[in-house]
Amino acid sequence: MSIFVTKSFMPPISEYEKYIEQIWKSRVLTNQGPLLRELETKIQDYLGVKYFQYVENGTIALQLSIQALGIEGGEIITTPFSYVATTSSILWQRCKPVFVDIEPNNFTIDVNKIEAAITPQTKAIMPVHVFGYACDVEAIEAIAKKHNLRVIYDGAHAFGSRYKGKSLLSYGDISTLSFHATKLYHTIEGGGCIIEDSEISRKLDLIKHFGHQGDDHICLGINAKQSEFNAAMGLANFEYIKDIIRERKRVSEGYNKLLTGRVGRPKAQKDLEYNYAYYPVIFSSEEELQQVFSSLNKEEIYPRRYFYPSLNELPYLEEKESCPISEDISHRIACLPLYPELSDEEVAKISAIIRSNLSK
Ligand SMILES: *Cc1c(COP(=O)(O)O)cnc(C)c1O
Repeated sequence: MSIFVTKSFMPPISEYEKYIEQIWKSRVLTNQGPLLRELETKIQDYLGVKYFQYVENGTIALQLSIQALGIEGGEIITTPFSYVATTSSILWQRCKPVFVDIEPNNFTIDVNKIEAAITPQTKAIMPVHVFGYACDVEAIEAIAKKHNLRVIYDGAHAFGSRYKGKSLLSYGDISTLSFHATKLYHTIEGGGCIIEDSEISRKLDLIKHFGHQGDDHICLGINAKQSEFNAAMGLANFEYIKDIIRERKRVSEGYNKLLTGRVGRPKAQKDLEYNYAYYPVIFSSEEELQQVFSSLNKEEIYPRRYFYPSLNELPYLEEKESCPISEDISHRIACLPLYPELSDEEVAKISAIIRSNLSK
């Protein structure tokens, strides 16, 4: 059977059905229904954060965040090493992404290069806790304070990662999450916003359902509400978060044993409790990556090039900026298959194929 980079976690079907039966009884299918509210409370408590709002997906979560913070136009400093949604949400909100290169240890935004990119038009910083590794949150907070900027973390990979004893998602004005089927914890489609301030939370709540309360039309809004069926999957999967992370750790440690020293790896911060969201490896060249891919593909094993291309190279950007480290890494990095059901034998097979294709 083919092995893909990930395999969506599925709870026992009876546990999902139990929630679906509740929907049949309540006849509430959407609009902040009881299952959604139950899930919001559970996630808020699990993360230990102030305000959590469950929305349709991780992309609309980013767009709502920009909108709720009142950012209309202007520049947002961001990282080129991420999934396209980080940049596209900035563009969709009619703002300009300004790319600051990444640092080579864990591929998060290089905080030493942020200040040089600030202009009078800069409104916010949107860094990414890429692969679940922590941005330098203290340095980013200091820069934001000094220059009066907002901080929105794209935390799509950071669910379950903890930094200095608290959720990595508790930093910044807003952190966003994705609960897409490919993510560590999923609700089929889904996303969320973690918000520090009660006013901003109220604003975001308003704009995610059309900007009106009853007949009172308060501000421009959109429909980013999530359904009870998605919340049901979220509740069923919620019970397995610990198991999911434990099994991902097992797989990751299996790769570590067989690949450490042979391929490049990110260096996690010492204060980080990692969530094992991804297993990225860096090859010595793009040719080596392609050689490894073609050998793995022959065995029906399909790793993914996360993230490629570097987002500063997107063809629809008005201006071309250069980010040499991100461009270099994105040509040589891939994520290996990682999901709870991946067996130790499969990990050994994948690692052996990789090792036999390394040039050194
Ligand atoms: C998955 C992802 C998103 C988008 O989330 P969706 O729920 O798929 O819309 C945003 N940013 C990053 C870094 C992601 O990996």
